[in-house]
Amino acid sequence: MFSNKHWTIVRPWRHRSAMGLCFVLMAMIWNPAAALAGQIGAIEIRDSEITLRFDDLVAGASTFLLAGPDRIALDIAGAETGRSPQAANARAGLVRAVRQGQPGPGTARIVLDLAQPAVLAGARFAADGRSLTFQLRPVSANEFERASRGPRTLLQPPAGFRAKPPEKRYSVTVPIGKPKPAVQLPRIEGPDNSRLPLVVIDAGHGGHDPGAISPHSGKREKDITLALARAIRADLLASGRVRVALTRADDRYLVLEERFGIARRLKADLFISVHADAAENESASGASVYTLSEVASDREAARLAARENKANIINGVDLGAHSGDVSSILLDLTLRETMNVASDFARLLQREASETVKFRTNAHRFASFVVLKAPDTPSVLFETGFISNKEDSEFLASAAGQKKVARGVRDAVQIHFARRVAAR
Ligand code: ZN
Repeated sequence: MFSNKHWTIVRPWRHRSAMGLCFVLMAMIWNPAAALAGQIGAIEIRDSEITLRFDDLVAGASTFLLAGPDRIALDIAGAETGRSPQAANARAGLVRAVRQGQPGPGTARIVLDLAQPAVLAGARFAADGRSLTFQLRPVSANEFERASRGPRTLLQPPAGFRAKPPEKRYSVTVPIGKPKPAVQLPRIEGPDNSRLPLVVIDAGHGGHDPGAISPHSGKREKDITLALARAIRADLLASGRVRVALTRADDRYLVLEERFGIARRLKADLFISVHADAAENESASGASVYTLSEVASDREAARLAARENKANIINGVDLGAHSGDVSSILLDLTLRETMNVASDFARLLQREASETVKFRTNAHRFASFVVLKAPDTPSVLFETGFISNKEDSEFLASAAGQKKVARGVRDAVQIHFARRVAAR
């Protein structure tokens, strides 16, 4: 009944009867003493476009889907629900009702009850960071169900308009799998000169996540990626032109958000996640370089991303999606610049490394890898070859092969930063 109309929830209450439960909940959790940066001033729905307006800066947002009944939830970090607690219960196209809640101090939650399965599309913050607009795109029930099992989507206001995430006022103990509040930052190695570019090398998998396992030698991807990361570090340090840090220098498990989180906290100039591919078809071989895209370049790339993203799921618990501690790591896919720099580096890496490493045809591919979702750090995922292929796995497991991979990365990194300095 409200379709094609503009409505906002900060009007006088019009749906008193439907709101009782919500208000009881709000009265319990709303705490005026805990006043924080942004409050949700209005929620506007126009056709399938929705805009949330804040009266001050917020730290960011994350969204996730809940199936049966189908809902879309948005957690706004650094925000409280509206000043006078409001709830709306109205129909507007795909949205059956809108609810607000406060799942914890400093996070406001908006829940859209859906009239039919739909997902968020084109979410973006306004340039001043004070509103968040997105569309709803109808999807099939199957697609919604599948998407509801995926990780949260993180959104970030433009840099410079970002509120500090609120300080935690209490701690919560969660029984399983919650990552430690903040992973200790690794040591930065190389010349003691903060003006030199910093490259963060991420050895894929680790700890209880072995990654792919070679059917020939039993070698595990997590060991190969660590050896490669160390070899790359050695060559980069020998060049003397960059500083280097490894996300892990031993056999430990990190969720994907922690990996790019380390790169962001160190303000890295380049993030390279090192992996080894696997395929049923043991003749598949060669390296490839992936950069982030919500649209995968082909079905194989989409499958690979799904497999690599599974590293977050242990015992059925998605450590990435449920980790409040990494919610300050936020994503804004509209940061084209970061993605363009990553693409330039991916092409360069293929060009430079192909002298010593065998690449596949169409070696630069795109897919939605969680580990590449740092909004402000150019990031690539380097699948160095197929662990399922006999020759590739022998090459990658050998010191000589690792040295060749490292040399290719070193050459690409040097040219990359030389070009960027020249472009300034
Ligand atoms: Zn992998």
